[in-house]
Amino acid sequence: MLMRRTLLTAAIFAALPAPALAQDALYAGLADHPIDSAWLAPPGFGPIVHEPIPARAQFGFVLGPTKSAAAPIGSYARGCLTGAVALAPSGPAWQVMRPSRNRNWGHPELVGFIQRFATDMREREGWTGLLVGDMSQPRGGPMLTGHASHQIGLDVDFWFSPMPVRTLSAQERETMEPELLAQPDGTAVLPDHWNESWLRLLRRAASYPAVARIFVHPAIKKALCAIPMTDRAWMSKVRAYFGHNDHFHVRIHCPAGTPSCVPQADPGKDDGCGPELAYWQKAVSTPAAPPRGPPPQIAKNTDGPVVAAAKPHALTLAEMPAACAAVIADGKPALLTSVAPSDAPMPPPSPAHATASAQP
Ligand SMILES: [Zn+2]
Repeated sequence: MLMRRTLLTAAIFAALPAPALAQDALYAGLADHPIDSAWLAPPGFGPIVHEPIPARAQFGFVLGPTKSAAAPIGSYARGCLTGAVALAPSGPAWQVMRPSRNRNWGHPELVGFIQRFATDMREREGWTGLLVGDMSQPRGGPMLTGHASHQIGLDVDFWFSPMPVRTLSAQERETMEPELLAQPDGTAVLPDHWNESWLRLLRRAASYPAVARIFVHPAIKKALCAIPMTDRAWMSKVRAYFGHNDHFHVRIHCPAGTPSCVPQADPGKDDGCGPELAYWQKAVSTPAAPPRGPPPQIAKNTDGPVVAAAKPHALTLAEMPAACAAVIADGKPALLTSVAPSDAPMPPPSPAHATASAQP
C-alpha cells in the first residue's frame, strides 16, 4: 500500500502542469489524508489494479473551472459544478483565508451572496468585515481533505473572528488561527468569547431568502436559543452540528433555473432548540457513546451531512451524477492565476482543520 501510494503521488505530480504553490497545497492534503483505494500502477510496476479512483483524487487536482454556463450538478454532498467563479481574495468587507487550498470558487450566486453579506455586516451591523473560509473547488466535487459537502458551489464557511481592518499578508492568511466560541466537546459557549455581536452576525446571515441552512456548534445554537426574541422564525435556518465552534457554514438554495441542482429538504418551522439540540449536545459531549440513530431534524434529509459522517466512504466518479464525469474531463484546466495576494511570497500550506473531516 505504501509503495502504491508513493507511486500514486509520483505519477500525479509528474503529470501536473500546476504552479508549484498549488502542487504543494495539494501534496499537503494528500499526505494528511492518504487515499485508501489503489491507483493504477504505472507500466512495469506490477499488475494493473482495477479499483475505482476516488472522485476526490480527481476533483482535488483540477485547478480551474469549466468555461460552460454556471450550474450546480447533483446535491450538496454528492455533486460537482460547472462555470464556477472565484471570490476575490480581498474585497472591501472580506478577506479569503487559507488561499493555498484553492477553495474560493462557487456558483456566481454564492459569490454574490458573500459580497452582499460581508458588505451588510460592515455597513449595517458594525463589523469590519468577514473572513471567508472554504467555498468549493474550481469544479466542485469531493475534496482531498475536509468537508463532506461544499461540492456544488453553494456552501461557504465564515470564521467567527471579525476581519482585521488591515489587509492580511499571505503568510497570515495561512497561519492565523480562528477564534473559538466553544470547545469542540463543550455544551456551552466560552463566556469570555460570546457576545451579542455573534447574534447579529448569524441573524443577518439567516435574513437572506437565498440562505437555506446555517450550521453552528451545538453550544452556539444553545446560546442563541436562550436569547429572548420576538421574531424567532430565522432560527429554523440555524442548525446545530458538531465542529463549527470556530466557523459557521452557510448553505444557499439551488439557484433558479438550475434543474440539475438537487435541493435539500426544508428545515420546516421547528426552531431546532428542542430534541435536535439535545441530540447534538449529547453527541459532542460524549463522543465515545454518541446517541443512537440519526438526529431528529436531519433524519428527514436524504442528503444531510450526517449521512456522510456516519459512513465514511471515498466517493467514486461512478457514484456521482453522470454529468460529473464530463465536468472533470472538460477541456484543459485553466491555470490558476490569482488566489492570493501577489505581493508576498506564498508560505507553506496549512492543513485543513483537524475536526473538519466529516463536517458539512
Ligand atoms: Zn462548511
